[in-house]
Amino acid sequence: MIILKTKEEIEIMRRAGRLVSETLDMAGEMIRPGLTTLELDTAIEKFIRDAGAVPAFKNYHGFPASACISINDEVVHGIPGSRVIKDGDIVSVDVGTIVDGFVGDSARTFAVGSVTDDCLKLMENTRKSLQAGIDNAKKGNKLGQISTSVQQVAESEGYGVVRQLVGHGIGRNMHEEPQVPNFGTPNEGPTLQAGMVLAIEPMINMGTHEVKTLPDGWTIVTADGRPSAHFEHTVAITDEGPDVLTVS
Ligand code: MG
Ligand code: MG
Repeated sequence: MIILKTKEEIEIMRRAGRLVSETLDMAGEMIRPGLTTLELDTAIEKFIRDAGAVPAFKNYHGFPASACISINDEVVHGIPGSRVIKDGDIVSVDVGTIVDGFVGDSARTFAVGSVTDDCLKLMENTRKSLQAGIDNAKKGNKLGQISTSVQQVAESEGYGVVRQLVGHGIGRNMHEEPQVPNFGTPNEGPTLQAGMVLAIEPMINMGTHEVKTLPDGWTIVTADGRPSAHFEHTVAITDEGPDVLTVS
């Protein structure tokens, strides 16, 4: 069942979303060569708790940290630890917060130092594919129009669109119905209504769309070892159009 949110609930979600965005702003300023992913995660958790909120990922299905930090060929769900961020890395940071019982969820991929042009192009394309999805998050559209618009932007430049992981409805729970795939056909899925809130999150690979899970049980990596980028926003569908909640 898709749970519609009231305007008041969307305003609470906007506060959760703003905190996620501010947290990612902070992370972007902090990321540099020599920093460990655990140091970054510790700062992220402190930032969220200092704001009086709860990190949504901590202990979610047993995830041990407040942020997912995924580097280069790691697509999503990287566990913070002793890994040191290096010049030339692309670092995807995915953060969720809980404010007054509602969740905000957003991710960005950051370039560290001198990153290859190929990686910068991949990041830019992933951002553009997310924007295409947001532009289609309109009342009366089919959910499939979000999915196909993301897919078209990514595949137009020959990139691989991850299939095994998808976006999701979001509200009091981080993962609610419906699933929001980044691929599909325009006529599939539910018709979008005002009050739906969706986390749209293209995971775009430079090479094959195939992924695998590392033995830690969490980290998803590309099957061919080539880089991957991830951008995500929490978006409310309103009578006035798409309303991105995860902005500062
Ligand atoms: Mg996320
Ligand atoms: Mg998400």
